[in-house]
Amino acid sequence: MAIISHCFRFGVDRIGWKDDPKRAFTISSAYSKILCEPRLEVDDYWCIIWRLKVPQRIRSFLWLAMRGNLLTNAECRQRHMTLAEECDICHNGAEDVNHILRESLGAAVTWIKLVRPDRVTKFFSMPFRDWFAANLCDQCEFVSNQKD
Ligand SMILES: [Zn+2]
Repeated sequence: MAIISHCFRFGVDRIGWKDDPKRAFTISSAYSKILCEPRLEVDDYWCIIWRLKVPQRIRSFLWLAMRGNLLTNAECRQRHMTLAEECDICHNGAEDVNHILRESLGAAVTWIKLVRPDRVTKFFSMPFRDWFAANLCDQCEFVSNQKD
């Protein structure tokens, strides 16, 4: 939020707070700025993850995975840390969170053993965030030993 003033009449450039007429930063001006901004959407997925009775590091992993922020090859390429986003193991497409957790050969073989046969098609074709949320729920429809 700080901007550099370009006023040659008053001397050298200096950094100022653009939301204050005197260009002075104050907590109250920052608070007013936050209140005036559109409210951030509360992420329902975070609530689901937060309620899980698992260690905090698992919650953090799930949160990063759900947001697509795990340091996969695709994410590294997005951050200009590498040129290749391809999966180093199966070389079958980009290595993103969806690939690692659902579509890679190792993941898919594991999922097929766990998912009810009548739900396999839906399991692998759902949009990633919906799939992720569906698997976080207590009443997961994909688990083999659940009743209909
Ligand atoms: Zn792969």
